Amino acid sequence: MTFSELGLSKALVDTLDGLKLVKPTPIQAQAIPLVLEGRDVIGLAQTGTGKTAAFSLPILQRLAPGKRAAPKKVRALILSPTRELSAQIAKSVKDYGRKLNMTSTVVVGGVSIRPQIKALSTGIDILIATPGRLIDLIDQRAVSLNEIEVVVLDEADQMLDIGFMPAIKRILAMTPAARQTLLFSATMPKEIRELSSRHLKDPTEVSV
Ligand code: AMP
Repeated sequence: MTFSELGLSKALVDTLDGLKLVKPTPIQAQAIPLVLEGRDVIGLAQTGTGKTAAFSLPILQRLAPGKRAAPKKVRALILSPTRELSAQIAKSVKDYGRKLNMTSTVVVGGVSIRPQIKALSTGIDILIATPGRLIDLIDQRAVSLNEIEVVVLDEADQMLDIGFMPAIKRILAMTPAARQTLLFSATMPKEIRELSSRHLKDPTEVSV
């Protein structure tokens, strides 16, 4: 199985070749075709399985070349529990999207909010965020979620443990109902099951 056979574009496959990524991992082989089709997906996968590429690659392909994000608007949102994970995802999105002319930025707590407000003011195709800081930015009207096409909840069980569930529910309520939603989690506690059945549409579950 190759990335090309999973439906990824030549631009992405060339970029992956350059990064020495040639063979999809099991979570990538299962999730990429579903995400490209626009399906909602629940991915049961731990860190280290290649799940970041499993959602980032098809999202990049679905959004590009497409319209550019309008000022203060975001087209794809990736929520993750920690600064460190958000930074890693942001780097992957930049690396994988190198040939696609997409804008992305990361907004996390514990650092100055001003540069984040400035970055968001231009309009961002792909925003990677921790839920708490995103809520602060929404409250300051620095960002609007009403043109979001795709939402990813990464490490959903970790976000639950940290206490981000109320923030996540508030954030989802501000996004269009017609969005695509992808949820990744290493475990499936009751609260994550409930979140999935309430906020995902006919999701396909994949597990590695
Ligand atoms: P993740 O599970 O998303 O945190 O990814 C774990 C690591 O696997 C990262 O360092 C990726 O660069 C690497 N990786 C992702 N996909 C592949 C692949 N198809 N082949 C080899 N390494 C990969």
